[in-house]
Amino acid sequence: MNITEFFNIDNRLLEMDKKALADCKPIFEKIDNTTEYNQLKVLKAFIKNGVSESAMAGSTGYGYDDKGREILERVMADCMGAEDSLIRHNFVSGTHTLTVALFGVLRPGDKVLVLTGRPYDTITGVFGIDEVTDGSLRDFGVEYNQVELKPDGTPDIEEIKNSLSKNDYKMAYIQRSRGYSTRPTLTIYDIENLCKAVREVSKQTVIMVDNCYGEFVEKKEPCQVGADLVAGSLIKNPGGGIAPTGGYIAGRRDLVEKCSYRLTCAGVGREVGATLGHSRELYLGLFQAPHVVGEALKTAVYGSALFQNMGYEVSPKPHEKRGDIIQCVTLGSAEKLISFCKGMQSGAPVDSFVTPEPWDMPGYTDPVIMAAGAFTLGASIELSADAPIRPPYAAWMQGGLNFHSAKAGILLAAQKMKEKE
Ligand SMILES: *Cc1c(COP(=O)(O)O)cnc(C)c1O
Repeated sequence: MNITEFFNIDNRLLEMDKKALADCKPIFEKIDNTTEYNQLKVLKAFIKNGVSESAMAGSTGYGYDDKGREILERVMADCMGAEDSLIRHNFVSGTHTLTVALFGVLRPGDKVLVLTGRPYDTITGVFGIDEVTDGSLRDFGVEYNQVELKPDGTPDIEEIKNSLSKNDYKMAYIQRSRGYSTRPTLTIYDIENLCKAVREVSKQTVIMVDNCYGEFVEKKEPCQVGADLVAGSLIKNPGGGIAPTGGYIAGRRDLVEKCSYRLTCAGVGREVGATLGHSRELYLGLFQAPHVVGEALKTAVYGSALFQNMGYEVSPKPHEKRGDIIQCVTLGSAEKLISFCKGMQSGAPVDSFVTPEPWDMPGYTDPVIMAAGAFTLGASIELSADAPIRPPYAAWMQGGLNFHSAKAGILLAAQKMKEKE
C-alpha cells in the first residue's frame, strides 16, 4: 500500500510512518483485545434485552409507551455496568447531560466536592465556580468546593479524605478525562482508588463521574468500580460516530430516577420523550461504539508515536496506559500549530477545502484554532484537533472513525508542518 498514490507525502515522513507503525504494533494488539471484549459486552446487552427491528421505529408527541426507548435504556445500563440509564437525543450536549444529573441529585443546601481540580471549562458555569452565574448550582444554593490536584496532576487522596471528613458532602464529583488540560487522564484503576477513598470516609456521599471521552476505552466502566452515577455525550465515544446528538446518564436506579424528574418533569420522569426517527441511530451508534473507540485509540497512539519520533513532546506517550481518546502534541510554535491544523483539515472527509484560522472564541483568553471536518457538527469522536494559540503551542487531537483515514489526516498534518520548515 502506498499512500502517495492518493496524497503527497515526502519520503522522510513515509519512513517515519513505517517506524511509527512498527512501534504501535504491540500496543494495537492490546487495543484490539479491549475492543473485542467491549464489543462482546455490547452484543450481549443487545441479545439479553431482546432488541428487535420494531424497537427502532420511534415515537412522536409525548412518546408514551415507546418500547424501543425503554429497551435502549436497559441496553445502555448493561453496557455501563449500571442498574439503570437514560439515553436520549433530547440531551443537547455533554454539558447539558451532566447538568441534568447534577440538578437531579443535588438540592439547595447540599455541598458538592470536586475531587479532580478545576473541572472542564463548560462545567464551571454550571457549578458557578468563578461567579454565581444565573441558573447555576450555586444560584440554587448548592455549595461548591474542589480539591486541587497534586503538582504532578494526580488526585490528592489525603486531602480528599481530609475534606470529606470535615464536611457532610452530598456528592463527590470526578472528571475522568483530562479534557484540554495537561494533567493525566484517570484510568479505571485511579477511579476505583478514588471511590475507595470516598467510601473510607463517607458511606452516603454520591460519587458521580464525568465519563466524557472515557467510554469503552477500558474493559470496565466507573459504575463497576464504585461510582454511583456517570454521564456523557453521544457525539463522543458511546454514539459511535452515528448518533447525531444526545447524551446518557447511568448508575444507581434511585439516582437515575431522580435525574429523570429533572430531564422532564417531577412526577412524569422517564415515561415521556418522543424518539422521532433517532432510535435506530442511537442503537447502531452504541453497537458500533467499542469498535470506533478502538479506531480512535489507534489513531491517538499512532499520532503519539509519529510526533514523538519527529522530536516533539507528546502526552500520553505511545505505550502509556490510556483512560480516554485524547492525545496532546506539543509543537512549540504558533506557525507549526496552525500548519498542523490546516494539514489535518485538508485530510477530512467533509470540509477538506476549508482553511482553519485562529479565532477569539467566547470564554477563552487566547485565540483558538480547530481542525474539524466531521459528518456531525462538533463531533469529537471524529478526527479533530483544538489548540489555543499560546505557549507551549500544544494541540489536543482526538477521534477517528476509522484508523486508515485518520492516519492519513495525521500524516497530512505532519506533511504541512514539514512544508513550512
Ligand atoms: C466534552 C466534555 C464535556 C462536555 O462537553 P460538551 O461540549 O458540552 O459535550 C464535559 N467534560 C469533559 C471532560 C469533556 O471532555
